[in-house]
Amino acid sequence: MKKEFAVSEYDFDLFTIGAGSGGIRASRRAAAFGARVAVAEQRFLGGTCVNIGCIPKKLFSYAAHFKQDFEDARGYGWSFDQLSFDWRALLEGKNREIERLNGVYGNLLTQSGVELIRGRAKVTGPHTVEVDGRTLTSRHILVATGSSPTIPEIEGAEYCISSDDAFYLDKLPERVVVVGGGYIAVEFASIFNGLGVDTTLVYRGDRLLKHFDADLGNFLAEQMTARGVKIRFHTEIRKIEREDGVLHCVTGDGERLSCGTVLYATGRLPNTARLGLEDVGVELASNGAVVVDPTFQTAVPSIYAVGDVIHRMQLTPVALAEGMLVADHLFNGGSEHMDYSGIPTAIFSHPNVATVGLSEEQAIESGYTIDRYRSVFTPLKHTVSRSGDKVLLKLIVDRETDRVLGVHMVGDDAGELLQGFAVAIKCRATKAQFDATVGIHPTIAEEFVTMRTKVGA
Ligand code: NDP
Repeated sequence: MKKEFAVSEYDFDLFTIGAGSGGIRASRRAAAFGARVAVAEQRFLGGTCVNIGCIPKKLFSYAAHFKQDFEDARGYGWSFDQLSFDWRALLEGKNREIERLNGVYGNLLTQSGVELIRGRAKVTGPHTVEVDGRTLTSRHILVATGSSPTIPEIEGAEYCISSDDAFYLDKLPERVVVVGGGYIAVEFASIFNGLGVDTTLVYRGDRLLKHFDADLGNFLAEQMTARGVKIRFHTEIRKIEREDGVLHCVTGDGERLSCGTVLYATGRLPNTARLGLEDVGVELASNGAVVVDPTFQTAVPSIYAVGDVIHRMQLTPVALAEGMLVADHLFNGGSEHMDYSGIPTAIFSHPNVATVGLSEEQAIESGYTIDRYRSVFTPLKHTVSRSGDKVLLKLIVDRETDRVLGVHMVGDDAGELLQGFAVAIKCRATKAQFDATVGIHPTIAEEFVTMRTKVGA
């Protein structure tokens, strides 16, 4: 519903810096409420997710899955002589889709009446922004500049790539070393491995995805290893040397892991450098994140921030939700706060991992007395394909109230399956309600409503 705002002494009611997921959503929503909105973008429309994140990563993940699909097909009687893969064809298809999406985002902005300003914006005052020498004024400013991958400062770091570069490799290496044990490391290790690259994942700790339920990372490591990824735990890379075009990762034990590409997936930091934020009084945390209150307001009352730049949960749907709340709050009298509990997330490793709610460890730390239900089995599809793939399903239940606190899965399409269970968690479903739900047979997901035996009971 459009509202009329008082004639303003400012050029705009909202000036958004960054046309990524959070920035675009907030801008369009604000414009829909009748606000005069501009968004400045120095690079591409759609931000990390569309250009160098979720979307191209998922396309690469699909591409990598085909290798196993072909192998599975043999178990079902299919035969074929030779498989070949053309990296350039995949890149071209991916780039075409992204260009299409860039156009879609441009149209969405224009159609909602948001002015798109191409260029690098800098905050010069509580209500002023400078874009390439031009000064603009706005009642509110929204910082939605996202985050960028970081590579530790070790000798030879200049030879390494980040996920940004992995989306534009000229050719696939024969061997790759992926460093890290989080989202991007396991996703890209799976992609490279699936595309036929000899893949080693090097992680300094002892468990992948260490912020999730321990079962997930342990099971994922077993399954990735079975699919051919070499995983090296407790391994740190001290330096990287280059000789005759080959890279050698020298580990803490002095071992040399040789490869054509080293991908560092060691976290992402907020993009706040050279934005002028601190000069105008916006508080930044030690990692550069913009510090905001529950309404996403910064230390300067007219300046707000959402998305990766506030470094809470670096997830597209979270940035979208934060952007909507800011627009609602500023231009629609909204007073709702973001609920960060029960946010589902999926990791598109092979196999996929998905989780919603509390892990076993978090539930215990939070003081719950819990019951655990856990099931590991071979899905029907893989009985005949004989691929050896297994799935893990796990439920964490509060013994006192019978509420299901967490739903966790490793296996094909885990993200697709858990979206629905995330609704059940939001509705505070109990184990009895899970049990009273009739399953869909034969599926993997039916096991979530048929698990009856407590682990360790
Ligand atoms: P993560 O925080 O998930 O993982 C970073 C990994 O790098 C950790 O295993 C960490 O180890 C390791 N690490 C950090 N510093 C060093 C170092 N100096 N040397 C060696 N290892 C190091 O970050 P990602 O880069 O994988 O992803 C960033 C964020 O992007 C994610 O947290 C997620 O929010 C988002 N994302 C979401 C996706 C999705 O929704 N599917 C996909 C990709 C990214 P340790 O644990 O020991 O600290």
